[in-house]
Amino acid sequence: MFIIDFDDTLFDTHGFKQVLTNLPEDLYKESEKIKNFLFPETISFLEFLKETNQPIVLLSLGEDNWQKMKIDITGIAKFFHSIHITAEDKELSVSKILNDFTAEKDIWFINDKIEETKKIIQHFPSLKPILKMSPRWPEEEYKLSLMPYFSSLIEIQQYVKQQIK
Ligand SMILES: [Mg+2]
Repeated sequence: MFIIDFDDTLFDTHGFKQVLTNLPEDLYKESEKIKNFLFPETISFLEFLKETNQPIVLLSLGEDNWQKMKIDITGIAKFFHSIHITAEDKELSVSKILNDFTAEKDIWFINDKIEETKKIIQHFPSLKPILKMSPRWPEEEYKLSLMPYFSSLIEIQQYVKQQIK
């Protein structure tokens, strides 16, 4: 099973924010540009995960309407068994997700934020973290986290492929 983050993991939030000059007023005005900011390999990555026949869950932190809008416009909702958006810490959502999928043994947690992922793994040590590097943090910090980290979804796909065979 895969629990995947949205911003800066599947979607180039960092890049998108740079085209917005007047936050937050521009966010809704610029909404038609949203679909251009999926990472180029996001769809093929989600197709790959789907072919593993394991549940895929989206877990996104942020304001509900805005997150939903981004997820809708990018057209990726169809890949997920469920979509969880939370304005609070992700721990509560993870515990709900794990309750929904008690039969799952290997649970991958794919995220860009180092500290958030560390906290989740402390709470749920059976989860297998995979970090996708975001330009917000230097590579050194990813290295120091001692969790597997990659610069692209293509590399994450190769890693997952190796791990699940
Ligand atoms: Mg993120």
